[in-house]
Amino acid sequence: MSEEWVRQMQNQVNTLEGLEEYINVSDDEKRAIEKLKTKWGVSPYFASLMDKDDPGCPIRKQVIPSMQEQVNEFGMDNYLVWKENRATEEVRPDSIARQYHDRIAFTVVQTCGIYCRHCFRKELVVDQDLKLRMDIDEGLSWIAEHTEIRDVLITGGDPLLLSDEKLEHLITTLREIPHVEMIRIGSRLPIVLPHRITDGLKKAIGGFHKVPVWINTQCNYPKEITDRTERAVYELMSCGINVGNQAVLLKGINDDVDTFRELHQKLLRTRIRPYYVFYCEPAPGIDHFRTPVEKGAELIRDALRGHTTGLAQPMYVLATNIGKIPLMPDYYIVDKNENEYVLRNHKGETTKIPNIPE
Ligand SMILES: *Cc1c(COP(=O)(O)O)cnc(C)c1O
Ligand code: SF4
Repeated sequence: MSEEWVRQMQNQVNTLEGLEEYINVSDDEKRAIEKLKTKWGVSPYFASLMDKDDPGCPIRKQVIPSMQEQVNEFGMDNYLVWKENRATEEVRPDSIARQYHDRIAFTVVQTCGIYCRHCFRKELVVDQDLKLRMDIDEGLSWIAEHTEIRDVLITGGDPLLLSDEKLEHLITTLREIPHVEMIRIGSRLPIVLPHRITDGLKKAIGGFHKVPVWINTQCNYPKEITDRTERAVYELMSCGINVGNQAVLLKGINDDVDTFRELHQKLLRTRIRPYYVFYCEPAPGIDHFRTPVEKGAELIRDALRGHTTGLAQPMYVLATNIGKIPLMPDYYIVDKNENEYVLRNHKGETTKIPNIPE
């Protein structure tokens, strides 16, 4: 008999009738499901976390199509080609996106455990008007030939949807490339399908190795974390895999002080280290999820800095074609003169420390 995660994928909720078994579908949701030509779907497990009656439920908004996706006033056309520098002169396989000298993003699969409505890779993963060739061995050869690449970020789609055998091949081959010092996997599965964290997976990618594996998951709202998530994260850590989070700042979902703080405290309690919060990128059809750019820095200032431990502080970044740009609050240095700095804390109190000449 197949494993539970495989059955969850086979039974992905992606029809109106299927969805009606979980919630009272709203008129807007119904219209969008019937009218929009877009891929959507959610694991039965994650669907069971949706609020039955509230269309404003943060889980519903992340997985169920909305007519608002047709509005595209502020999104950029051909977003992913721009963002991933696919039109530059360096010749690379389709699977390799590059913005930095020492690290690359390696796209290995196009399917996901849920199809996030706010996905910045929507053109590739959700709408599928951008076609890329996902040839894992071609990407591995490119990495082996490029000795400057010391850090490989495996992405998708959701890489943990590959079989244990394919993952083992991928990770083992990377570990054998002398210049690869670390491997990262971006996967929403610890959150949306924690059943994927099996003994087989642990064996395929875990263990004591010179080349460590980090998994960065995506959790955007406290309710997404369950006992199952906690167990899955513990299992990953027990075989040497570090777990971090990359949240997306989403309007009406996590852009208020209380939710933002609770999310980060809960992640840490679950042993997930908050790594990034991303500004929701200007990809087409996701205007309705976007806040002003400054919002994330304000939330870090008002919800996290000084209000909770430094371990719970992600970096707020705007991902662009020239790399990630940190956008952090900057209220700390109030004044500086020859003799001293005047510094402000989260409560607005000030203090002084002596300046030191260069
Ligand atoms: C995000 C990203 C990386 C990794 O960036 P870090 O800041 O090291 O996490 C690398 N390459 C591309 C193309 C990326 O988008
Ligand atoms: S899991 Fe990641 S790649 Fe897949 S739809 Fe969500 S954000 Fe996009």
